[in-house]
Amino acid sequence: MFCPNCGKDSPPGAKFCESCGNAMPSDQTYQAPPAYGSQPFGQPMYAPIPLKNAGIAAVLAFLWAGLGHIYLGQIGKGIMFMLVYIILWVIGFLTFFGLILPFIFWIWQLYDAYTKANEYNASVQQTGRAPW
Ligand SMILES: [Zn+2]
Repeated sequence: MFCPNCGKDSPPGAKFCESCGNAMPSDQTYQAPPAYGSQPFGQPMYAPIPLKNAGIAAVLAFLWAGLGHIYLGQIGKGIMFMLVYIILWVIGFLTFFGLILPFIFWIWQLYDAYTKANEYNASVQQTGRAPW
């Protein structure tokens, strides 16, 4: 802490300047910045949102189309994906040459679940809110 009278540095908390004896300004004029994510009153601005694990999202999406999106909180989209996946399998078996369709859809939603997990985490870290 620097003396306002002579400019010499004094240990923090010193009541008087070691050099000239001038009364030092109170420590209370200095306020530590509030901790990250909290307001000056000590109340958190928002409940911290846990990040999503992109690996878990990918594993769930691997097990069944749509599961990864449900894990990410995209419930409606995940349920729709599950139904689309079943329908594609049925169409694939009925037509025999159509089995490539559920496979393509499965690959795509697996990739989508992984990238959406990263989008989710980026949004939580930048804005503190889930993107959806
Ligand atoms: Zn001084």
